[in-house]
Amino acid sequence: TNIPPRVEGRTRLGVMGGTFDPIHHGHLVAASEVAALLDLDEVVFVPTGQPWQKANKRQVSDAEHRYLMTVIATASNPRFTVSRVDIDREGPTYTIDTLNDLRALRPQSDLFFITGADAMNQLMTWKDSDKLWNLAYFVGVTRPGHKLEVPDVGPEHFALMEVPAMAISSTDIRERSANHMPVWYLVPDGVVQYINKYDLYHATAYTAEDLP
Ligand code: ATP
Ligand code: MG
Repeated sequence: TNIPPRVEGRTRLGVMGGTFDPIHHGHLVAASEVAALLDLDEVVFVPTGQPWQKANKRQVSDAEHRYLMTVIATASNPRFTVSRVDIDREGPTYTIDTLNDLRALRPQSDLFFITGADAMNQLMTWKDSDKLWNLAYFVGVTRPGHKLEVPDVGPEHFALMEVPAMAISSTDIRERSANHMPVWYLVPDGVVQYINKYDLYHATAYTAEDLP
């Protein structure tokens, strides 16, 4: 295949970006599977910065809540870490900035950017998408309900992989919480408890327009 081989003296760093509002087992399974298939040394989860708020759009939970849930969910895995680069940067998050920051912080690492099928399909529309391909190798993973499409770029830049199908989304978890339906087993236990502790997805944080 076209997967970059391990290079002596360099570490292989997976990068899993997301809003993580909240992090769920779909994210964790995807990261774990890609780490195994690509022989990654580490996967760093990178919660996005606070998006600019549109008047009629759902409020995204505070960055510190999303960061801490990501820490709780990944703490038990020795190969999983969490980075604050996006939440500590001013303004909206662009993947080009995430990758440039991580490369500066980890010059000894080769980056493998992991995206679900929905995010992979949007790659072309991202800011400076033509420059992204040289900053990291891209790994598109299957996600129930989304077609994994082949990006319009040379095969040396990406791989598409099947991961165990987890029909879970953060949107669904927020809706379940708002409707007092269980989210146990969709997210790690500590994340269920954290959501309840801070009452993250009840009426105030979640407006009626967002419900189906
Ligand atoms: P939301 O519903 O708020 O958009 P989400 O579940 O899509 O949340 P994100 O934080 O938007 O989660 O996703 C971060 C990354 O994880 C994206 O690349 C996304 O495609 C991927 N991803 C999310 N859920 C899954 C899943 N169940 N299986 C595979 N990949 C997933
Ligand atoms: Mg999403």
